[in-house]
Amino acid sequence: MSFDIKTHIRAIHDYPKPGIVFRDITPLLADGVAFQQTIMQLAERYRPLQLTRVVGIEARGFIFGTALAYALGVGFVPLRKPGKLPGSTLEQRYQLEYGEDALQMHDDALTADDRVIIIDDLLATGGTVLAAVDLVRQTQAELLECAFVISLTDLPGPSRLQRAKIPYYTLCEF
Ligand code: IMP
Repeated sequence: MSFDIKTHIRAIHDYPKPGIVFRDITPLLADGVAFQQTIMQLAERYRPLQLTRVVGIEARGFIFGTALAYALGVGFVPLRKPGKLPGSTLEQRYQLEYGEDALQMHDDALTADDRVIIIDDLLATGGTVLAAVDLVRQTQAELLECAFVISLTDLPGPSRLQRAKIPYYTLCEF
């Protein structure tokens, strides 16, 4: 890669809670060249795979997912928090540190003919993306890979995906 993506990601200490280092992608988004190179790198990887849709996780997965889908000339499918999609939905619940959350997708968004990736900005514990995988698996669509801009290697997400034999790709690691 001709640019160092990590230099465009800012660490914010003690956000959202004391002791947490939040990886902030807004400097990457604010730099037009860096943002373009990020999407170009993803597009180079996924152009040969003949995807039919890019599936993005709310909310920062929408930023990278829609740009990637546009670059590839394929459709985009949003996975949203409950109550946001207007049509009939499929749902997958998942555990948070305290309580639970869910992702929803329109029930006609994917078919058995679709070849997709799931994209989000960041992989941490893996709870969000594993729910997204289960949601996509409620359809007959073929899931090729999960993609992230950032993976946090000291958290369980990467090993959970490996154990579940879910291929994933990340542009950088912290
Ligand atoms: P996980 O479910 O624990 O893997 O958390 C991943 C989700 O939380 C993604 O949707 C991220 O957008 C969000 N997230 C968690 N930590 C961070 C961070 O440090 N920066 C940006 N997003 C984060």
